[in-house]
Amino acid sequence: MTKSTQPAWQTSLSNVVTDPAELCQLLELPPHALNNAGFAHQDFALRVPREFVARMQKGNLDDPLLKQILPVADEMQAMPGYSNDPLQEKQANPLPGLLHKYQGRVLLLVAGGCAVHCRYCFRRHFSYAENVPGKPGWEAILNYIAADSSIREVIYSGGDPLLLKDEVLAVLTQKLAAIPHVTTLRIHTRLPVVIPARITDALLSWLTGTRLQPVMVIHSNHAHEMDAGVIAELERLRRAHITVLNQTVLLKGINDDADTLIKLSQRLFSGGVLPYYLHMLDAVQGAAHFTVSTDTARQLVATMADHLPGYLVPKLVREVPGMKAKCPI
Ligand SMILES: *Cc1c(COP(=O)(O)O)cnc(C)c1O
Ligand code: SF4
Repeated sequence: MTKSTQPAWQTSLSNVVTDPAELCQLLELPPHALNNAGFAHQDFALRVPREFVARMQKGNLDDPLLKQILPVADEMQAMPGYSNDPLQEKQANPLPGLLHKYQGRVLLLVAGGCAVHCRYCFRRHFSYAENVPGKPGWEAILNYIAADSSIREVIYSGGDPLLLKDEVLAVLTQKLAAIPHVTTLRIHTRLPVVIPARITDALLSWLTGTRLQPVMVIHSNHAHEMDAGVIAELERLRRAHITVLNQTVLLKGINDDADTLIKLSQRLFSGGVLPYYLHMLDAVQGAAHFTVSTDTARQLVATMADHLPGYLVPKLVREVPGMKAKCPI
């Protein structure tokens, strides 16, 4: 027998659950759990790695991880004020694959897809086909960054940038490191949470192998997402001197109570991760049922501040189109 050379995370990726009926079976849910999900699933397909499903409680339709990924009929209700491009990113999109909204930082859409489809995601209607650069596109992006000496930080985002192979990311990173005014490389990713095996030795090596200061911002919304395997991989990042931060989206019925948010911060810190942002939901069509009011959000963060050291209290923010930074609340 020949030994497979495909990294384990790629195998996980090709085995994600995409069939609602299979998800139901795995979680021992009654089939009627999916009765009304058909159209939502067609609009934005179910997609979830098995590792993530394994952290859900069987038979519990209210499981906070399940609710993040299960298509439901509520998504198909048109709501006034909820749109397909709530952040109006088209205005800050000088080249395909590049967003330059904020001073000193550019965001690169390096991959079009994600390992998991989060139902609340503001990118669920985003047309990646137009926006993931091909080879000539990458040249143009590198030239754009090289020509603007105010750009200090480059952010790999998407989709999920860690869907790309390490060899590809290594080459891109070396090219960025050759631009003298770029000092920091940031990765925005949910993969270390949903498929922790994505933290490969090769990843650690390209991420720490240039003069660029590495920052990783993971995305976790609930303490249950981080089992011992995830925490161990996060610790490995920290031991490699990577600054690791977390962003959370505040979601009704999933993490909109103080106890849940406090436990999330504590769990993150047990893996050496500091909470960064707590995001108000973007007003994206299909996610209105996850909305938490600004008053409730403020109260939740105040309660967190009563129970936690300051460094474990995330910044509550909202993204407002046209603003020079994320807007603190
Ligand atoms: C959020 C975001 C950034 C990074 O903002 P920070 O406040 O530095 O985390 C950069 N570019 C875009 C387009 C963003 O949406
Ligand atoms: S971009 Fe992030 S929030 Fe959106 S579906 Fe992908 S992993 Fe989920």
